Amino acid sequence: MLSPPIVTTVRELQARADGERAAGRRIALVPTMGALHAGHMSLVKAAREHADRVWMSIFVNPTQFNDAKDFDAYPVDLARDLALAAEHGVDLVFNPEARELYPEGAKTWVDVEGLTDALCGASRPGHFRGVTTVVSKLLLAARPHVAVFGEKDFQQCAVIRRMVADLGFGVEIIGAPTVREPDGLALSSRNVHLGPEARAQALALVRGLDAAEAAVARGERGRDALLARVEAEIGRAPLAEIDYAELRDPDSLEPAPAQLAGPALLALAVEFRPGPGGQGKRVRLIDNRVLAPAG
Ligand code: AMP
Repeated sequence: MLSPPIVTTVRELQARADGERAAGRRIALVPTMGALHAGHMSLVKAAREHADRVWMSIFVNPTQFNDAKDFDAYPVDLARDLALAAEHGVDLVFNPEARELYPEGAKTWVDVEGLTDALCGASRPGHFRGVTTVVSKLLLAARPHVAVFGEKDFQQCAVIRRMVADLGFGVEIIGAPTVREPDGLALSSRNVHLGPEARAQALALVRGLDAAEAAVARGERGRDALLARVEAEIGRAPLAEIDYAELRDPDSLEPAPAQLAGPALLALAVEFRPGPGGQGKRVRLIDNRVLAPAG
């Protein structure tokens, strides 16, 4: 089976990075947890526009799972991922063991304050500390010129941008648009766990975003009225439980004003119960859109 070269140690990756840099080549890093889909591949494509070498990390980072069951259930298929990576021209895959990134006795965390308090930070305590810590380790190991992240994880992009600026990582962070199924559902590695009924109802997220966008286009500016529309739309899906539906400032992630005066991030997290026949697992999905009132 086709595969890019695989590196498993930080030391070797750093040595390769030094070699590429010495030769004047630019490196782009695409961090992933594997279970690759077209969303990840769009990041590879974006990475290629900014660099001579596209490196992907595949590492299911234990420290960003606040729920051990979610970690255990995370889909893993390395052979398939490597074949997909090769097919899309990834030049190298970094696939370390957990003990390589978290050596015995590890005590160091990277924590971004404020931006991580709300949204996914509120509902998944410790999640962003795990993300920022592992992304720091990946950036120190791969020494990339650019790193590409998906805007589906909007808050994650904001948090990583802040961290990179605060710590002077000297890497450019690129945000890439969300890739969707033909019916609008945002691609996610977790979608495989949706039973058929929950899969159909998962469109509630994009319908909620559409409803809010349509209301803004008709002139609605009231934050609470917009959120009520979103909640009503999601409420039509009997298996859905809203974790959060919020309007926030796209830069600071502070709550949006009662009357929208400029662009506002509509961020959704919804959990889907398994169907009545017990098909599928409980799955938490997120999606977002920046609503831009005209004028
Ligand atoms: P994950 O493997 O889920 O941790 O995601 C790795 C990267 O892929 C992150 O930067 C995600 O934001 C990005 N990503 C996940 N799903 C999508 C999608 N549907 N479209 C674009 N990027 C995505």
